[in-house]
Amino acid sequence: MDQREGWIWFDGELKPWKDAKVHVLTHGLHYASSVFEGERAYGGEIFKSREHTERLIRSAATLDMPFPYSVDEIEAAKQLVLEKNGLVDAYVRPVAWRGSEELSVPARNNKVHVAIAAWVWPSYFSVEEKLKGIRLEWSKWKRPSPETIPSSAKAAGLYMICTLSKDHAMANGFADALMLDYRGYVAEATGANVFFVKGKDITTPTPDCFLNGITRQTLIALARENGYTVTERHIKPEELGQFDECFLTGTAAEVTPVSLIGENTFTPGEACRTLIDAYARAVTPRKAAAE
Ligand code: PMP
Repeated sequence: MDQREGWIWFDGELKPWKDAKVHVLTHGLHYASSVFEGERAYGGEIFKSREHTERLIRSAATLDMPFPYSVDEIEAAKQLVLEKNGLVDAYVRPVAWRGSEELSVPARNNKVHVAIAAWVWPSYFSVEEKLKGIRLEWSKWKRPSPETIPSSAKAAGLYMICTLSKDHAMANGFADALMLDYRGYVAEATGANVFFVKGKDITTPTPDCFLNGITRQTLIALARENGYTVTERHIKPEELGQFDECFLTGTAAEVTPVSLIGENTFTPGEACRTLIDAYARAVTPRKAAAE
């Protein structure tokens, strides 16, 4: 990953990809003082770009990290990275972290750095392929209480549980893991939110201890526009048998149908198809859609 050709925006300037390095005594590396974003550009336009930048700056503020750039500066930098790398359909990864001035738990004297990388990441699967659905394993790790960790931030520390869960799931032949929260309610997958469907009713967990994804919020609006009711509530794992369809949402996952969670099976159908199409239309830049 670190030996590619291309350019990375690093503290205000474009650096060759291979030279975008940090010191081993970086605070962010030792104590997870790091926040990041995951975004997708479609046809040269980043979907909900400002919302992602605002979330990045909010996440930094949640970790008491003084963020050294404005929303407009980050917006311009993201565009520059896409252009300089000749990218049109791409994944965009901004990250902010505490530097290497001092290495102990307190971090206030450490400079906050920001970098933005981007690389090609097309949506690989056809709708038919997606509609087969992916299989999820229940994770043994739980999403923690918001009194334990600031769970509304997209912060590196929250991802240790995700990596453990996803690696375990993949080693057992599953595509991803679904995590419960600290109370035992259904929470989210390791990089995506989850929705359940029965007829025209869609139910999704209340995001009170995990990320309220930008894709999740988009999907709730699109589902309502397409005649579905959407209820946000706490869902117990033993309720899953009553639902017909299930799907994940996230910037990388987009809308990904699910065929199995533990003992529960789902048959991706009308709702998954409708919402995959609606999301594909929503992310297509207006100028491309008009051509
Ligand atoms: N939950 C987790 C843990 C994630 O990493 C992501 C991806 N950022 C999401 C949910 C979905 O968020 P979004 O729709 O904003 O990409």
